Amino acid sequence: MEFIDEKYINALIEDKSFNDKNLQLAAIEKARLRKGISLKESAILLNITDNELLDKLFSAAKEIKENIYGNRLVMFAPLYLTNACVNNCLYCAFRIDNKDIVRKTLTIDEIEQEARQLIMDGHKRLLLVCGEHPKESNLDYIGEAIKRIYSINYNGNNIRRVNVNIAPLTAEEFKKLHSFEIGTYQIFQETYHYETYTKMHPSGPKKDFAFRLHAPERAFEAGIDDLGIGALFGLTDYRFELLAMLMHAEYMEKTLGVGPHTISIPRLEPASNAPAANKIPNAVDDFAFKKIIAILRLAVPYTGIILSTREKPELRSELFSVGVSQISAGSKTTPGAYKKTDNKSNSEFGQFQLGDHRSLDQVVKDVCNLGFLPSFCTACYRSGRTGDRFMELAKTGKIGEICTPNALATFKEYLLDFASDDYSANSEKALLEQVERLPEKTKNATKKMITKLENGERDVYF
Ligand code: SF4
Repeated sequence: MEFIDEKYINALIEDKSFNDKNLQLAAIEKARLRKGISLKESAILLNITDNELLDKLFSAAKEIKENIYGNRLVMFAPLYLTNACVNNCLYCAFRIDNKDIVRKTLTIDEIEQEARQLIMDGHKRLLLVCGEHPKESNLDYIGEAIKRIYSINYNGNNIRRVNVNIAPLTAEEFKKLHSFEIGTYQIFQETYHYETYTKMHPSGPKKDFAFRLHAPERAFEAGIDDLGIGALFGLTDYRFELLAMLMHAEYMEKTLGVGPHTISIPRLEPASNAPAANKIPNAVDDFAFKKIIAILRLAVPYTGIILSTREKPELRSELFSVGVSQISAGSKTTPGAYKKTDNKSNSEFGQFQLGDHRSLDQVVKDVCNLGFLPSFCTACYRSGRTGDRFMELAKTGKIGEICTPNALATFKEYLLDFASDDYSANSEKALLEQVERLPEKTKNATKKMITKLENGERDVYF
């Protein structure tokens, strides 16, 4: 808890000398070297108001993301196992005091049905999410769920990476979670502002700010080295939240030798019977939100930035170009919602309101039309490229050489197996053109992967 230095963050926010165009430009130029920038420089960037400098900030974010990861956007979907929860977070519909929702915990068979549906939609990567409940979502249940999800095979297609977003665990419990072969473990602090945190979490185990804050270290010690952090924007001043989250990333880098694998930036959305979500204490407008994402990309260039379906399609499209690298698509936040067809009842018991209700197929089409490459790749985790090994590849510029071919292969797999009939021949053409632009060595290897897929093989990657 001591490493979130509120006094220092507030001093950075208050510093009027950062209203200086030369300082702001210098911070952008430094960031373009892709070595990250200091907390102070991030605070300087928060002060940009000049339109020309804002354009430079946004184009630097785009350039950095493309230089490291190319034009790929990784796709995933959340899978909610239960909305039972013993906490009382004032921004969440699952909170214990909300008597207006029907509580539902999926059985292992129902989890299989949900995962099957997601596989049939074309997904390869899931984020498993649960409310916190000692009985309904205990670790044995989560382990069973993951085992069943990995066991499903639908014509060679399967879920190849299960990331997990569950309540913080003890060191021993994290060891058990690690044994389930999870991908990334995500833990959002929600707000790094201690007083706000205390107000927002009036009861339940989540009241313990420090236990949550130090979860990444315990998970890392247990062997989980792909760790995701995040903050729920809207609870406190977004400038504080952003700088504190970067302070957390710095702390992880210093103590664990590896920063966060991903950073998530959910923004508060209305939710059933959730007072803080229905009257947002510090609402963040779209423009500030775009700035937050761009600054993150400049500050932590190698970290994946995750954008959820909380945001509306038009805004999502705009934000893809300022550094986002992973997106959820075709999401539902109600346990059991993927298999159901009655959309009304599905949305009634969700964790919050979604902004993007489009199917995966519609999102993929949009992503292609915007010039991005949809990726369903899960190769790094399965090839042992996690934690510092992944970061090393990213920092030496080699990750793009792996990401683009694997993104192309997984997109080809998607086109062969799941894309709707009205997919234009243009998608295929764009894919082949991109293969041709690859360096000779990777081009040949990618062509081989594509031929294998055309011949019926699945799950090819390097
Ligand atoms: S945010 Fe998580 S812990 Fe809090 S009430 Fe919702 S599900 Fe429970």
